Amino acid sequence: MKKGNIGVTTENIFPVIKKFLYSDHEIFLRELVSNAIDATQKLKTLSSCGEYKGELGELNVKVIVDKENGTLTICDRGIGMTSEDIDKYINQIAFSGAEEFLEKYKDNANTIIGHFGLGFYSAFMVAKKVEIRSLSYKDGATAVKWECDGSPEYSMTEIEKESRGTDIVLYIDDDNKDFLEQSRIDSLLKKYCRFLPVPVISGKEQEWKDGKYVDTDKDKVINETSPAWMKKPSELKDEDYLNFYHELYPGQDDPLFWIHLNVDYPFTLTGILFFPKIKNNFDINKNRIQLYCNQVFVTDSVEGVVPEFLMLLQGVIDSPDIPLNVSRSYLQSDAAVKKISTYITKKVSSRLEEIFKADRIEFEKKWDDIKIFIEYGMLSDEKFRDAGKKFVLLKDTEGKYFTLDEYKQLIETSQTDKEGNLIHLYTTDAVAQYTYINAATEKGYNVLLMDGQLDNHFIGLLEQQVEKSQFVRVDSDVIDNLIRKDNKKEVLLTTEQRNMLTGIFNSQIPTVDNAQFIVSFEAISETASPIVITQNEYMRRMKEMAAFQPGMNFYGEMPDSYNLIINTEHPLIVKVRNDADANVAEKLAPISKAITDNNSKITALRDANKDKTLSEDDNANIKSLEEAVKQLRDEETALLSTYASSQSTIKQLVDLALLSNGLLKGEELNSFINRSIALL
Ligand code: ADP
Repeated sequence: MKKGNIGVTTENIFPVIKKFLYSDHEIFLRELVSNAIDATQKLKTLSSCGEYKGELGELNVKVIVDKENGTLTICDRGIGMTSEDIDKYINQIAFSGAEEFLEKYKDNANTIIGHFGLGFYSAFMVAKKVEIRSLSYKDGATAVKWECDGSPEYSMTEIEKESRGTDIVLYIDDDNKDFLEQSRIDSLLKKYCRFLPVPVISGKEQEWKDGKYVDTDKDKVINETSPAWMKKPSELKDEDYLNFYHELYPGQDDPLFWIHLNVDYPFTLTGILFFPKIKNNFDINKNRIQLYCNQVFVTDSVEGVVPEFLMLLQGVIDSPDIPLNVSRSYLQSDAAVKKISTYITKKVSSRLEEIFKADRIEFEKKWDDIKIFIEYGMLSDEKFRDAGKKFVLLKDTEGKYFTLDEYKQLIETSQTDKEGNLIHLYTTDAVAQYTYINAATEKGYNVLLMDGQLDNHFIGLLEQQVEKSQFVRVDSDVIDNLIRKDNKKEVLLTTEQRNMLTGIFNSQIPTVDNAQFIVSFEAISETASPIVITQNEYMRRMKEMAAFQPGMNFYGEMPDSYNLIINTEHPLIVKVRNDADANVAEKLAPISKAITDNNSKITALRDANKDKTLSEDDNANIKSLEEAVKQLRDEETALLSTYASSQSTIKQLVDLALLSNGLLKGEELNSFINRSIALL
């Protein structure tokens, strides 16, 4: 028997391992099973190159729970270890400056693993004693038992062992008894070992008997040894990808597309990424991309490795080149990881372009579902933005799809304004904005449907990216102003008429919650609607943006502001004007004149006293004049209101305009209906 001290520079390494090393104690199983798999793979390699001539036998890894004896054993039939091997690989913990290192990383001790070959020692996180029983593949090797109780002292003895390979026996300590439950081990193996390349056996298959599940004699294999991502794309059919997807994420709809990743230079990476059909946020958080290292599951937090906009994808990435056990901030600054992330972006965009080119019809069919990925990608990743321009699609209200170039060609002649800007008309709600869409299409314009979650932002991006382009929502102005081709027709109203009509229409606008209306006049055309309600593009966008940005509440809290545009060319409006001219203009004239007179008196008084303070008399004079103006205005309003109320067409015209915008509700809607019936 040999005794000795494990070659670390500090006596205190075990407490450190126990306490700090792994935040997740369960990882010991991943480490030990991985070692067993490595040993098995090494043996296969030695055998295939002729260095090992013996029988391989059935190669598998067994994880045996023995609750009675309080042990968990990991057995393999791999290369095994001689006592020299154990000395070299186990006794000499192969890193220098352990103390310093541990001190530095004690808060983030995961960093140590993998890099420093502490995998095996993670067993001490859950075990009070660990035994290695091993028989090397080498000719004439003798079996050895190594044992250690967690102090730096170990012992090593020769033992009898028939079968080649290594058994690692963990005497589970009292704090970790849960690792003696088969169900706990099953779930850990499912998590970490599901796709390991060598069969991993633990427990027995169960069957339903006499009202409960009972063990059969059949060993339970927990893993799929050759998962789809490790195969060549040429070996796989669509069905295989779909099956693999459903195996990873049971209960999901078929994915839209997938991308098989396969590189070996300048780093090694394989994997399959799926574009899922996103139904709700819950799916996004639950079914994430899984990261593997040589088929060993590592994590499903892939922040940093996968560019942010691709976090919405699902599937598997497997790379031995990603430093797996390090902190997130380290990952993000790691050069290899950056390269991987760039590669994935490139691969995703080239694959999308490929699908787009090969099968445009299919691509269009799935567009509505993948649009969110592509818009998000183009908004957040510059490289993807450039690539995306080739296949990002715009959809119009008729359901036709266009690339950016195609769309430009389509609207270039009809929708360029007199300043040479390409005006993209769009709607965010094809039902609510139906009248405007109709007006635009009748005029020969095309209207885009931009009703996606990110479209608001995406419009901003397109305006930057597509030269001389502007996006204008169809309801943001009257049709002739949306795309200004020539100088506007002039509104032929005198100041008095303007004044009078403004008062008349103002008096008939109902109060609408959270909305305000500003009356204005445009000589649109005889055939257009008599009154058009529009919402200023700029103000609307500011409000929409404010909803996303803290500190912009100022915009958010303002009521929606609408323009109530009176079409002075329309015969009905012409009639309203003529009737008003005939019936109220005369009564209005003296009031208006009095207002003007009083106002000029006020101005004159102020002008005369420009450079000095007003005398008390003057001050009082101005005050009473202002009071008079106010009274006159009230009189004017009352006059116009009474007149307007007597003309049911006016109210009817206003209500119709509101109605076509969904702004007429409740009591107002009810009285509109009653009035309409009365008119019939
Ligand atoms: P790492 O696996 O990172 O090298 P470990 O501490 O887990 O670090 O293992 C150290 C070494 O011990 C391994 O590289 C391997 O040579 C040897 N070893 C561990 N487990 C086994 C095993 N089950 N069979 C054969 N050799 C093993």
